Amino acid sequence: MTKDYKGRTHTELRKLIVEAESNLSDLKAALSGLTARCQHNWSNPEYTPEIHEGYQIQGDPVGTMGVDWRGPSWVDRQEIKRWTRTCYQCGKSEITEQTRDKVEKVPVFSDRRG
Ligand SMILES: [Zn+2]
Repeated sequence: MTKDYKGRTHTELRKLIVEAESNLSDLKAALSGLTARCQHNWSNPEYTPEIHEGYQIQGDPVGTMGVDWRGPSWVDRQEIKRWTRTCYQCGKSEITEQTRDKVEKVPVFSDRRG
């Protein structure tokens, strides 16, 4: 969405910007009001990890740094566990790294017969 503002004066452009900013803050307020009133019908959490690929550090050039010389080393791949859920109604989405353990009850029957 590109508009052509060629030929507009500085004053006209400033006025348009002020109006647009005012519209934008009205829209944001309306949206956050609507979102705040939403009952939220969340989707199932989707696993959306943040991944930092492993990489090689070159280390210091040979013959430099004296006793502090450090050779090449490998930095491991890192995966930060994260989940995202999105509201079907208002489209709000939330991200969490928080989890809790779920303890499961499993029925146990005695081995005695009869
Ligand atoms: Zn919602």
